Amino acid sequence: MNLAIDAGGTNLRAEIWNDHTCIAKKEAKSVETGLYAWIETLLGEFKDVRSVGISFAGQVQNGIIVSAPNILIDKHDIKKVVEAKYEVTLNIDNDLNCAVLAEAKEFGIQNICALYVGTGIGLGAIERGVLIRGFKNVATEIGHIPYKKAPFLCGCGRNNCLELYASGSGIAKWMEHKKLLCDTSLQELERTGEREIVDMFHEALLSAIGTTLTLFNPQVLVLGGGIIDANPYLESFILKDIKNYTLSNSLENVTICKSKIKNAPIKGALLLKDYND
Ligand SMILES: [Zn+2]
Repeated sequence: MNLAIDAGGTNLRAEIWNDHTCIAKKEAKSVETGLYAWIETLLGEFKDVRSVGISFAGQVQNGIIVSAPNILIDKHDIKKVVEAKYEVTLNIDNDLNCAVLAEAKEFGIQNICALYVGTGIGLGAIERGVLIRGFKNVATEIGHIPYKKAPFLCGCGRNNCLELYASGSGIAKWMEHKKLLCDTSLQELERTGEREIVDMFHEALLSAIGTTLTLFNPQVLVLGGGIIDANPYLESFILKDIKNYTLSNSLENVTICKSKIKNAPIKGALLLKDYND
């Protein structure tokens, strides 16, 4: 049996798979339940699990959790402590790395990027079948590339990150700054005349996508995440305007489309056990 966990900023979700069948699903709150304690509970209940794959919404390196803004971490050295106590192998990776592994399998291709826009904005990139990791496994952190100065700070401590414009948390920060009380959805902002925040979001999203295409030249760029899912118009909007944000050679024969996988990060967590850089 395989246990796949999606450790997100709000929820911990688990699926238990036996061969090709999901036999159980579990859920807990990320800020209430420690990740290690939850794994112990799950392994106590499903004693035939031999492999654990974790998609993690934070920075991880070599099985060690480096940072996690919204997830309760009771053991940082998670791979070592779980493998020492249980007869399992544990693999953990960044959620966008997991998502792009699942997308690469779905499309059956070797050059692919996955850009997800929800609370944050995240990117995973695979080049010739290999994840682009960087020295400390923090390459492709597109949300923190310098973009424009904002009158408030990013979670990373700087005030000029792309994420301050092209994400749900960025939209919320702009609304707080302008003392707006309406719902944070793009439609509601347009309806209430706050076109400026919507325009800033659109511009930053196009910059993020153009930067991704120009830097990585993928064959397919898959878009996902809560804001992409909630705003179907964004796909055609992006396709119409992206040429103004990308080197034209990078756009040649590229496919830009929405993800078709339900919860790609957890599907990717299941693939970690068979993936080697
Ligand atoms: Zn930042």
